[in-house]
Amino acid sequence: MNKRRGPRTELIHGGIERSQFGETAEPIHMTSGFIYERAEQAEDRFKDRDQGFMYSRYGNPTVRTFEERMMALEGAEAACATGSGMAAVHAAIMCQMRSGMRVVAARLLFGSCRYILTDILTRFGVEIVLVDGRDLAAWKEALSVPTDLVFFETPGNPTLELVDIEAVSRMAHDAGAKVVVDNVFATPMLQRPLALGADIVAYSATKHIDGQGRCLGGIVLCSKDFHENQLHPYMKHTGPSLSPFNAWVLLKGLETMDLRVERHVASATRLARHLEGLGGIERVIYPGLESHPQYELATRQMDGGSTLLGFYIEGGKERTFRFMNALELILISNNLGDAKTLLTHPATTTHSKLSEAERAELDIGDNYVRLSVGLENVEDLIEDIERAIAA
Ligand SMILES: *Cc1c(COP(=O)(O)O)cnc(C)c1O
Repeated sequence: MNKRRGPRTELIHGGIERSQFGETAEPIHMTSGFIYERAEQAEDRFKDRDQGFMYSRYGNPTVRTFEERMMALEGAEAACATGSGMAAVHAAIMCQMRSGMRVVAARLLFGSCRYILTDILTRFGVEIVLVDGRDLAAWKEALSVPTDLVFFETPGNPTLELVDIEAVSRMAHDAGAKVVVDNVFATPMLQRPLALGADIVAYSATKHIDGQGRCLGGIVLCSKDFHENQLHPYMKHTGPSLSPFNAWVLLKGLETMDLRVERHVASATRLARHLEGLGGIERVIYPGLESHPQYELATRQMDGGSTLLGFYIEGGKERTFRFMNALELILISNNLGDAKTLLTHPATTTHSKLSEAERAELDIGDNYVRLSVGLENVEDLIEDIERAIAA
């Protein structure tokens, strides 16, 4: 690979390998298999003496371009792309788990991430300890005994609590654990967990990497050693591979990700400031606002306050649903990171599997909504929200 270039350059040129036709855009290698010149070549590839492609479940040139581009962006030694974000989180965790291991995780997690820990891993005798991710003393206590894996999202879904990546990674390493960070909410543009001490980063590429709501995808970024000995063998034999076509869509998404995230953050910041003073809204959550309890940490470990914000409507579920149903421009969807502004009611959708007590602990009230700020004119978003609040 080239010497380190700027991230915007990597987003556009990273990993490109042109065919004999010299095409400008990345070629789509829509093939499941590859052929060998001679029987000996096939044997060599299966014995790792020849590095060519064999089968798209193991690797594919278009998927490889996506992996190389993400590696350049994150400063990672290795990567495996996956068919969805959950496949990425699942592979990143499962490829290193054995019965009897111990996992410490932040309790505020995307529903499916939490399910992998509390419903799947516990079946195999893995101990799961969930802590308040904001509380360094809680991490310290949980990591005072030997631990194998630490997992968290920051900002967390859906209430945008932050975890101090540097401090928790240090404690995790002292306890013997590897640190896996789900960096979806921050995007690669706003936060680089590997540089802050994490060992493995997982993304749902479905979100800001595609950025236009077209396809599912995911990726795990890690060291060469972890890739070779744990992640890639697990991926290769369990098969959550990314389609070459989707890899191409994601490559096109990466070309504009920097511009999009910049606009998302600028609009989210303006919107958050505006909503803070608005009647009918109880409280606004945005890590880029001075009012966010972890504002200092946000400015220290992130390059922007997130593309998402949350707010609590004055009243309960009924008033909140009335507000949602009165929106005309903003769409109700559980997706995020789209060009279109999307609003979610986590208590009844993404986090509906949690018990009422668990939701209360996480401050996911019936009056809480999560907003993924899109690329529209922010004045139109403000107008839509103000009109729906008045309704
Ligand atoms: C969406 C999301 C995922 C899952 O990604 P998919 O592409 O939908 O499988 C995982 N973690 C977080 C934080 C997410 O927001």
